[in-house]
Amino acid sequence: MNQQLVEDLEKTIENIPNFPKEGIQFKDITPIFLNPQLYKDVIKDLSAFSRDKIDVVCGIESRGYLFGIAIAVALDVPFILIRKKGKLPPPFVGQKYDLEYGSAEIEMRTGQLQPGQRVLIHDDLLATGGTTEAAALLIEKQGGVVSQFSFLIALKDLAGEERLKKFNAEVHQILS
Ligand code: AMP
Repeated sequence: MNQQLVEDLEKTIENIPNFPKEGIQFKDITPIFLNPQLYKDVIKDLSAFSRDKIDVVCGIESRGYLFGIAIAVALDVPFILIRKKGKLPPPFVGQKYDLEYGSAEIEMRTGQLQPGQRVLIHDDLLATGGTTEAAALLIEKQGGVVSQFSFLIALKDLAGEERLKKFNAEVHQILS
């Protein structure tokens, strides 16, 4: 564990109480982008975890793109966007998942991921794990291998990691 990076991120990420609704403590990662050196340190940490272990990075809309693309570039591998329903032109493949109230769906362009490719699924934050689990099912549906998950933050009390165990993939987070 990179203790200096942990301390720098703890000082930088803002905790906003009761946003977007009562009882949620929102983690605002945007101050990281005011500090280019800290951003580079984050990418160094996340790319070191995945070096030589993956063939492609899949980032989850939208904050998963902010770090996911930089990880892919650092590792010289492709980046594929996982988007919320209705944003991608056809052909695409989708995966539904349950929310606290109702359901949601994520989508990927068909043909960008090749069967057998080892995938890193990246997002800024793991909470309940519902979104990341759906992303992993979407990768498997296309014959991809879910090899790794990475996050800046994994909220431990929401047991998201438990939900990802069935994929037998490595999991890395900088903060928990
Ligand atoms: P989940 O599907 O519950 O794991 O939620 C993960 C998604 O919701 C991620 O894309 C996060 O960006 C966002 N999210 C969930 N909880 C928070 C939070 N407390 N602060 C910031 N973003 C959050």
